[in-house]
Amino acid sequence: MTNLADSLTKTADILKQSKFTMAFTGAGISVESGIPPFRGEHGLWNKYNQQVLDLGYFLNNPAHCWIYIRGIFYDFFADAKPNDAHRMLAKMESSKLLNAVVTQNIDNLHYQAGSETVYEFHGNSKKLKCLKCGHVYDARDIDFENIPPKCINDGEVLKPDFIFFGEGIPPDAYADSFAAAEKAEVCIIVGSTGEVTPASYVPRTAKQAGATIIEINPEKTIFTSAITDIHLKGKATEVLNQLGELLF
Ligand code: NAD
Repeated sequence: MTNLADSLTKTADILKQSKFTMAFTGAGISVESGIPPFRGEHGLWNKYNQQVLDLGYFLNNPAHCWIYIRGIFYDFFADAKPNDAHRMLAKMESSKLLNAVVTQNIDNLHYQAGSETVYEFHGNSKKLKCLKCGHVYDARDIDFENIPPKCINDGEVLKPDFIFFGEGIPPDAYADSFAAAEKAEVCIIVGSTGEVTPASYVPRTAKQAGATIIEINPEKTIFTSAITDIHLKGKATEVLNQLGELLF
């Protein structure tokens, strides 16, 4: 059995050789920033009803949904900061060792860490959108004391600009993510169960197109036995910091 140190050395060599490397990140990369995942023992869905993020329910009950949406995304998540894992991916990008990040996360932390090529597969909670006129607002400009927040143009209720259950993937993010997967020589999966589709098809597409799949996660996932070539078992910050020592 190979140990973590051997696997890290092998990974660093593979990354140095790769001409196109992408990362695919899930809720796990932000756990060490204090944002819990949706699933699992401490997952948000043990505490909240998923219905508040169902598009049909939201459209009929915006005031009720906004009480929970504000609590989860604008009170609780608001002060989360990028951690060493987000920062290491940004450093890899600026050093030409990483070409793109496809993230399922909606927390904006990759951008805050300095990553530039980020495809947000599920949107971003830091923006709000009017479903009638399409006007986009920065969450920092919204008065969350008065919910539901409304559009200044037409008085319509604003919706966070991440996808709710029942909504499609933003077309540009979808196209860019799969285009990256098609040309990736290496795909690093960080902190994703692989249970959410169609997002989980992104690393699967990379694998089918010939990429080496590196997985960083303290647990085994659906990906591990199906597509992973090297499982770096551990927390995102610890593993990426160790990898960084071999890369820089
Ligand atoms: P998930 O919640 O299904 O799974 C999280 C994964 O992270 C698990 O495999 C877990 O073992 C792993 N993990 C936990 N701690 C970790 C750590 N310190 N380092 C590395 N990995 C760790 O997440 P998912 O598969 O990404 O799917 C949930 C969906 O919910 C996503 O699509 C995402 O959009 C959304 N979500 C986003 C946020 C966010 O924006 N931060 C938070 C919760 C959920």
